[in-house]
Amino acid sequence: MSSCLFCKIIAGEIPSKKLFESDDILAFYDIKPMAPVHFLVVPKKHIANLLELEAEDSALVGKLFFKAQELAKELGCGEKGGRFIINAKKDGGQTVDHLHIHFLGGRALRPKLTSWFLG
Ligand code: 5GP
Ligand code: ZN
Repeated sequence: MSSCLFCKIIAGEIPSKKLFESDDILAFYDIKPMAPVHFLVVPKKHIANLLELEAEDSALVGKLFFKAQELAKELGCGEKGGRFIINAKKDGGQTVDHLHIHFLGGRALRPKLTSWFLG
């Protein structure tokens, strides 16, 4: 989708600090990190959010999570862990309408799910 920010990052029209790229996935650091380790994993296919998922995309979501946990371990968060988050639509606080998994780690985050963003 030409107007989508993450599609522009995928197309290389907007620069990003890339962590991983394959035919169908891109991972890059969040521009406004909320933790010492904060990256995003996105499908190259434009899927607006998890609520727009079609059956044919379910394997792709599995790949996103698999890569997210691999990168989390590569970045030193395997032992202490972190948080994998997907915001969806308005009530979920989604600000970029292209499906993405956040990973936050490198410090202890508040256990309360509702305050994840404030950490
Ligand atoms: P959401 O609120 O939709 O779950 O998360 C969107 C995330 O994208 C935010 O954490 C925000 O900091 C990040 N973000 C927004 N614009 C850019 C950008 O241009 N580059 C990168 N790397 N991250 C961005
Ligand atoms: Zn997009």
